[in-house]
Amino acid sequence: MRKRLLIAALLLLVSLLVSLPVLAAEVSGFRVWADPAKTRAVLDLDRKTAYKLFTLENPHRVVVDLQGSSIDIPVELDEEHAGIIKSVRYGQPDKNTLRVVFDLSESAELKSFLLDPTAQYSHRLVIDLFSKSNQKSSLVKHVTNISKPNREVVIAVDAGHGGEDPGAIGKKRTREKDVVLRIARELKKAIDAEPGMSAVLTRDGDYYIPLRGRYEKARKARADLFVSIHADAFTKTSVRGSSVFVLSARGASSEFARLLADSENASDLVGGVTLNDKDDMLASVLLDLSQSATREASNKVAADILSSMKRNGKVHKPNVGRANFMVLKSPDVPSVLVETAFISNPGEEKRLTEKEFQQRMARTITNGIKDYFYSSPPPGTWIAANRNGQKYIVARGDTLGGIASRYRISLNRLRSANKINGDVIHVGRELVIPTS
Ligand SMILES: [Zn+2]
Repeated sequence: MRKRLLIAALLLLVSLLVSLPVLAAEVSGFRVWADPAKTRAVLDLDRKTAYKLFTLENPHRVVVDLQGSSIDIPVELDEEHAGIIKSVRYGQPDKNTLRVVFDLSESAELKSFLLDPTAQYSHRLVIDLFSKSNQKSSLVKHVTNISKPNREVVIAVDAGHGGEDPGAIGKKRTREKDVVLRIARELKKAIDAEPGMSAVLTRDGDYYIPLRGRYEKARKARADLFVSIHADAFTKTSVRGSSVFVLSARGASSEFARLLADSENASDLVGGVTLNDKDDMLASVLLDLSQSATREASNKVAADILSSMKRNGKVHKPNVGRANFMVLKSPDVPSVLVETAFISNPGEEKRLTEKEFQQRMARTITNGIKDYFYSSPPPGTWIAANRNGQKYIVARGDTLGGIASRYRISLNRLRSANKINGDVIHVGRELVIPTS
């Protein structure tokens, strides 16, 4: 009896399956992001769907065929973010296929994948286009800086979030990814204006970089410091102020284990010492030393940035916070994360969008970074050689040549110590006088 019931149920199920129409997916949104290495196109779908992807040459095109799908939105190209995509169009080669065609400015290599829904988005089809003529990233040129005598200290400035990841969103729809990028750019400007210091941005546009990709960029640039810039959010809108974070000890040890397992990473964890030919005991001692030095440096620089913040504005907590942030897990680059303000606080949300606040925040962070490097300069850097140099305030009637001869240094050294190109100096400017 029971068996017969089961068979009847099965038959019913089979007939249902056969008669169900193929569920068509609908394309409900389209976005593009371009970073220096690739262009990413994203199609929002209301459900998962099968797709085919191929390229055509002369002219360069990428074609996506989505099975049983439809589209009823205008596909507009956001040119500012379009990278190597010149235009987008779509059509229906047969009644079960939606075809989207990207016209490209050059030929590209493809990668594609489907993403599951998140709080922000529905199902997505992501297509990455890697330009074949891609030039080397600007980060690479900083590597040559490392071997020069009196090199500059390099600070990797990381604007949090970006692209598909907007970060926290304020009441007035201010997006964290936008304001932190502006602060990061101001921070780079402020750092570059300091003699002996230079900054690289992990991202300089509206695109997403995976968290490990961020600190890997810092390591590739041989950065002396990694600073990630964010804006905080909390359910209580009255909460406000800046905070500074370092990695908690627990987070550090788990990432350490992961990196150790990856021999490619392990080989340059301790300043280029190849560990493969050392015995395991020595390797783990070397790595441990490198990592505890990194942790100590991170604590110090975080404390210096926090004190600079206390002198300049409202801090959220009086002490450096500790958290298990993936982006801080570089075992050999001291790393800190700055929550500049609370985007969930209406007053701070407004200030985050203001240039004056962005510049003041950049100045405040730079002062903290400067305090750190002047008190513990890495050997071989310009700061190590010049930190005891005198300061001179330019007075009316001064010339650069006159100041140089007064301190018995060459004009060129005075110029390069202060990043001056010509001969123009302004009254009231503070000059660094390098020690001879
Ligand atoms: Zn954030």
